[in-house]
Amino acid sequence: MANYECARCHRYFDKVAFEEVCPICFPVEEEEFRRIKELLTVQPGATASEIMQELGVSLKSIKRYLKEDRLEIVGDNKGFIACELCGQPLNSGRFCNECYKVGHSLRLKAMEKGGESAYQEMKQEAQKYRKTSLSYKESMDN
Ligand SMILES: [Zn+2]
Ligand SMILES: [Zn+2]
Repeated sequence: MANYECARCHRYFDKVAFEEVCPICFPVEEEEFRRIKELLTVQPGATASEIMQELGVSLKSIKRYLKEDRLEIVGDNKGFIACELCGQPLNSGRFCNECYKVGHSLRLKAMEKGGESAYQEMKQEAQKYRKTSLSYKESMDN
């Protein structure tokens, strides 16, 4: 049963593991990511806006790669992405170390207490676009 909305094309598809995109978008995404890596190889520390301009990659995709831990921010991340729970700036991933440890239970607790709006606010804060240098994670290469 198609139960998951593709992060790229918004079609619903059958999610089998942790993938965020549908089988149609998957190769497109792999190719896009390969081009980002290429660019960052010849132009280390390129900013998100440079990647967007030169490759036509959407900001949304870049943020997703960061959250999926495939890209990493170099140096000061200027709040480009932030911990989804406490709002602390992050260089990659979805949660800071502290929140990661308690992550799931903390989020559930926050929701029980009606903290969902606070959670959403933090997420919106993290959506702010800033100029930030990026690099890709070597470990994700294989
Ligand atoms: Zn798709
Ligand atoms: Zn946190």
